[in-house]
Amino acid sequence: MPAGIIDGKAIAAQIRLEVADRVSALKKKGVVPGLAVILVGENPASVTYVANKQKACAEVGMRSFVRRFPADVSEEMVLAEIKKLNMDPSCHGILVQLPLPKHIREAACIEAIDPKKDVDGFHPVNVGRMLIGESSFIPCTPAGIVELLRRSKVKIEGAEAVVVGRSNIVGKPVALLLLRENATVTVCHTRTRSLGEVTRRADILVVAAGRPRMISGDMIKEGATVIDVGINRVDGKLVGDVDFETARERCGLITPVPGGVGPMTIAMLLKQCVEAAELNVH
Ligand code: NDP
Repeated sequence: MPAGIIDGKAIAAQIRLEVADRVSALKKKGVVPGLAVILVGENPASVTYVANKQKACAEVGMRSFVRRFPADVSEEMVLAEIKKLNMDPSCHGILVQLPLPKHIREAACIEAIDPKKDVDGFHPVNVGRMLIGESSFIPCTPAGIVELLRRSKVKIEGAEAVVVGRSNIVGKPVALLLLRENATVTVCHTRTRSLGEVTRRADILVVAAGRPRMISGDMIKEGATVIDVGINRVDGKLVGDVDFETARERCGLITPVPGGVGPMTIAMLLKQCVEAAELNVH
């Protein structure tokens, strides 16, 4: 029987409704949650991502403001703007849209953000807190993956989880979060030998490698839950890192691309932004 589909779009819509309720409650206390986005240059993908974030904020009743800079702006100017936003009480979350032009250091910008406003969860203070299990902001895509598993009633505790990919924004944090949820976690990368042998052990398989359809059905354990994080464009079509058709014949549950993990990222950003505002009120 083909696998069940984890409908990320529907789950993300539910989270947005929950966020909208929390925004209304805050407004009654006189607080409007606000997200500031720093956008440097005109990278078309970044411009689209930022527009989507603004639209999503508006839909849940949150305020968003975009600070746009030309591609040749100095790092100093960007850092000065971040410092201003750190002090601005109407701004509860700050994110720097990546990638930045080469002459601006991403790490310097991220480290300039007040960790209490780091709703993307990339600041080393938040990364460290996540590592030692303290409450913190968490990178949005990994947070969305764990939320998808929870809301789909997938048992994480005790499960054999395999993560393919070890980037700082997806692979490593998702591995940590699954460990925190008491899975037994293995992380794979380009130097992993016999990838298929490892992935076939997984009750939960998370693939974030950026390689179109690299995981085929024969690399998946029967009945496993497969989370496909990959977003690749092949012949004008969006495909994941998992070969959906062959995978579906083997696994129990699977996220589609598009419509799986993708919609969760912005939903989790909104959730963390409303949390940042709530922490400010009490
Ligand atoms: P990176 O390129 O930063 O990292 C890719 C990771 O995959 C690396 O650790 C790399 O290993 C590993 N890898 C690559 N090829 C193989 C292979 N053949 N076998 C085993 N491991 C491999 O990518 P990101 O983590 O930023 O993104 C991964 C994918 O997720 C991309 O398709 C991206 O578009 C998508 N994405 C989707 C998001 C969403 O909202 N749905 C958000 C963020 C990303 P090594 O370290 O050895 O090089």
